[in-house]
Amino acid sequence: MRELTLDDRLMSKNPFASQVEGSVLQPKPLLTVRVGDLESLEAAVVAGADRIYFGGEVPVDHQFDWSRANILKALEFLNQAQKPGLLATPRIMMARELAEYRLLFRWLEGLTTKPAGLLVSNLGALELAKAESTLPLYGDYSLNAFNTKAIELLRQEGLVQVTAHVESSFSQVKEVVETASLPVEAIVHGSLTAMVMEHCLPAALLEGCTQQDICSAACRNRRYALKDIRGQRREIIIDQYCRNHLLLANELCLLPFLDSFCRVGLAGLRLEMQFLNAQQVAEVVQGYRRALDAIYAGDNQRVSELARDFSQKSKRPLGLGAYPRGITGLR
Ligand SMILES: [Zn+2]
Repeated sequence: MRELTLDDRLMSKNPFASQVEGSVLQPKPLLTVRVGDLESLEAAVVAGADRIYFGGEVPVDHQFDWSRANILKALEFLNQAQKPGLLATPRIMMARELAEYRLLFRWLEGLTTKPAGLLVSNLGALELAKAESTLPLYGDYSLNAFNTKAIELLRQEGLVQVTAHVESSFSQVKEVVETASLPVEAIVHGSLTAMVMEHCLPAALLEGCTQQDICSAACRNRRYALKDIRGQRREIIIDQYCRNHLLLANELCLLPFLDSFCRVGLAGLRLEMQFLNAQQVAEVVQGYRRALDAIYAGDNQRVSELARDFSQKSKRPLGLGAYPRGITGLR
């Protein structure tokens, strides 16, 4: 899929404005943030996040793991800050991860300060959470909440909220929010995974490891990327299970057009920052916090300034993901 980048041509005109024409601002959505380590969690809260998702996959180069000690530290920090935090599950869960999370869910039940819920990312995790946990269950984007029927099914399975799929267009998200039986959150910023692979590419390509071999750990010492046929660089993030997450070439960024997202009736606007470091998390959360507050203060001039500033400072290429699909005249 060709990704639409956030160039000046787009910045000057909101491609989503026509789709929400005449709509009023809905109640302010929560600014939610997915983080990859404890330092980023603290940075996100300080920068103004309303709700945090933590746990699941961690890039190996963060040299961090969500051990029980670190989960306790996270819960303690969130409790002090009076911000809700939800524990997330990995995208792919085989027997190993299911066993790990079964014990983890049971352990959480015994805590005095528990997470505010679980963010489940696959149907296996949902089944496990229903059996082992009393916490409210939220659905991640990988549960494919593409339409009203899928969302109703997930509601019957016990979810209290869903996340719109990242391949949904803006008009699909809008339609889903209007008809869904559950609150819907949408991802508006982040380094998104295009593909998760069991197969470790650095080990396979550099050292000839096959699927039967144990990874030679070539993936551990440096960062890798694939170059596509247009020469765009697609970064590969290696997680603690040695799975490879191939990222989209552009970092998703809807900051300039946040006003339109606030007219849809979304429960949450999420920044997906699991693979970024604490400093990057702080910058992005602060930008969105200020923009969201400016929108509800009626200061659209301020939002434009913030967006332009953000786009100029960003060292990573920014894009609009699948949201513009179906809008004529854009590509
Ligand atoms: Zn590996």
